[in-house]
Amino acid sequence: MRIAVLAETDTAEPRVAATPETIKKFISLGAEVAVQSGAGAGAGVSDEDYAAAGATLAPNAAAALAGADILLRVRRPAAAELAGAKQNLAVICILDPFGNEAALADLARAGAIAFAMEFMPRITRAQSMDVLSSQANLAGYRAVIDAAAEYGRSFPMMMTAAGTVPAAKVFIMGVGVAGLQAIATARRLGAIVTATDVRPATKEQVESLGAKFLAVENEEFQQAQTAGGYAKEMSKEYQAAQAELTASHIAKQDVVITTALIPGRPAPRLISAAMVRSMRPGSVIIDLAAERGGNCELTRPGETAVENGVKIVGALNLPGRMAPTASSLYARNLLAFVETLVSKETKQLAINWDDELVKATALTRDGVVIDERFKKA
Ligand code: NAD
Repeated sequence: MRIAVLAETDTAEPRVAATPETIKKFISLGAEVAVQSGAGAGAGVSDEDYAAAGATLAPNAAAALAGADILLRVRRPAAAELAGAKQNLAVICILDPFGNEAALADLARAGAIAFAMEFMPRITRAQSMDVLSSQANLAGYRAVIDAAAEYGRSFPMMMTAAGTVPAAKVFIMGVGVAGLQAIATARRLGAIVTATDVRPATKEQVESLGAKFLAVENEEFQQAQTAGGYAKEMSKEYQAAQAELTASHIAKQDVVITTALIPGRPAPRLISAAMVRSMRPGSVIIDLAAERGGNCELTRPGETAVENGVKIVGALNLPGRMAPTASSLYARNLLAFVETLVSKETKQLAINWDDELVKATALTRDGVVIDERFKKA
């Protein structure tokens, strides 16, 4: 079995899909690993590090892919990059298929079996393969660090000889994996933290981290969590009540970090332009949902907008700002998944199409898109 690790073609992606640590493990599974030269540069891993772990360095993508059974990437490769690859190449990456149905169909036509790591079920068995969690946790941490850097005042209360400096007030909107880490990090830095979500289960989690919970806790709220653990898209009435409740709260906050997402839907709009204008100049909003349209009306993805002295940071790919750590966790997620795809006896790729992990993540097979949601292209 041969595994190829390609460099990312998106210049905004510094992470890499395998590390020397995971390469050693793949080799111990009986695999040969070819790494495209320079693949680890953005994540602080040199070609020499990969070679020392036992990988073969390939001068380009085609050479790395020659004879490969599995391709590991962070982001979806273009079908053109797979020219010359084996049929039934298992492409394992964050596929980002929503809105990218044509690119997925191209991968299918290129003969790839494309696995979307972000569709890994949130079940105990697959926890070690959960790329959303491993990366969102870092994004939540980094959002607070970035907010503290952008905010011109201090996070902790400081009692000094020259007088007392008040603690920053931080509000976290959306308390999934990123939001929980943001709460914990802001608390560690000494901020006064409040948080909101639409899923009732989050109330206890927020309080257990020492933050205060704020939400419209009506009947719709009680039903807002899907069987998969995600949030539903809330009704117009709920959104209006939520906006009314949070508007006066946001006006008193120094930092707001938004992380609210609904799978397959645009990010919910939680902060209006009027709410931004109600904040004190010098306040900071970090919108982790920027990639999906943003939770704030004024967010400009990839940029920092300034309105009435309030900075609205639409940062993209926060895990990428911590590329060595993010890559090391992502690479371990992939290793854990690949281990389930390889036969212990033959040490060859042996996909079990009845496995719920495969059913949830494999989007293409035998030249076609097999997931109903993405067949339209
Ligand atoms: P996510 O990134 O999809 O969304 C972030 C948060 O935004 C969620 O908590 C969601 O409820 C919230 N949200 C959505 N709409 C909102 C709105 N209008 N207002 C306020 N908040 C809103 O979430 P995630 O971090 O991927 O977590 C999703 C679920 O998966 C959670 O239930 C989490 O506990 C669960 N999870 C389970 C495991 C596991 O068991 N292996 C691992 C990680 C996460």
